[in-house]
Amino acid sequence: MFENSNESRTSLSEYGEFGLIDHLTRNFGVTPENTIKGIGDDAAVLDFKDEKVVVTTDFLVEGVHFDLAYMPLKHLGYKAVMVNLSDLYAMNAKARQITISIAVSNRFPVEALEELYSGIELAAKLYKVDVVGGDTTSSNSGMVISVTALGAAKEEEVVYRSGAKENDLLVVTGDLGAAYMGLQVLEREKQVFKVNPNSQPDLDPYTYLIERQLKPEARQDIPPLFKALDLQPTSMIDISDGLSSETIHLCKNSGTGVNLFEEKIPLDPAVISVCEEFQLDSTTIALSGGEDYELLFTIDQKDYDKIKGNPNFTVIGHMTQQSEGMHLVTRANQKIELIARGWNAMDNKD
Ligand SMILES: [Mg+2]
Repeated sequence: MFENSNESRTSLSEYGEFGLIDHLTRNFGVTPENTIKGIGDDAAVLDFKDEKVVVTTDFLVEGVHFDLAYMPLKHLGYKAVMVNLSDLYAMNAKARQITISIAVSNRFPVEALEELYSGIELAAKLYKVDVVGGDTTSSNSGMVISVTALGAAKEEEVVYRSGAKENDLLVVTGDLGAAYMGLQVLEREKQVFKVNPNSQPDLDPYTYLIERQLKPEARQDIPPLFKALDLQPTSMIDISDGLSSETIHLCKNSGTGVNLFEEKIPLDPAVISVCEEFQLDSTTIALSGGEDYELLFTIDQKDYDKIKGNPNFTVIGHMTQQSEGMHLVTRANQKIELIARGWNAMDNKD
């Protein structure tokens, strides 16, 4: 969605490739202690002092990962940064720099890219990362955005997916399922709009859900909170695909099983009510919905007192011996095998 209010449309060809990057990044500053040279030379020069460098990269493809029918470009820019920073925080690292590469067709004017970059700029400012490079090129069809994020962490603080042990507690930040239900609401409104372009949807009851979908926030507060609590998780991952598949990743990488308790899964009341409205099972949505960008981690049981009563954290299960398998324990105290996707299979079993 392109919200250019003054309706001016400057063709991309009016800027050369270099002129365009200079134009789009003209307001971007750098943090001198982390970034010696940002945009403006053949390559950036970064300073990580005595810390390890943590790197991650992601593609966002129009029609696959986002739909411009309801995704404002500013939000898209913001979200593209969040998706990557979330992966850095999942390593217990601090975010330092990002590079942004985009491919666009000439159906997008310069003003559209300015909106996209205003979202990137806002994210960079709020999350204290420097934009240190990138590229723009043309695409024959849709828009493609690739972000690379660089972070820093002391070697002993890095948390991998592979360190969970039997009896460790499985803990999640925030609440789950809201981003997916926000997408369902937006998809429904898109269909209504197709039939009746004059309809004025009342989206107020869905504000939280839509925000979680369009403007997700990566958990930059969690690594410093671990430090303050003197807590080193044994394994960690961010929730991009859904609680179920991320839990399976931790188990497979760590060589453990898991018991995950349905009644413990944190759900916002708005998720519960919209699931009733859409006649969807809220547990299924939390397990398979994805895009929550919360952190899922394990801790040694002896560290339980460090998180007890902290509203950021919910203990949702514990790791078991690998031979015991990976299970969801339902409210009716039934054990169901945890599967990554196609949760409908659950219904077929009983
Ligand atoms: Mg991830």
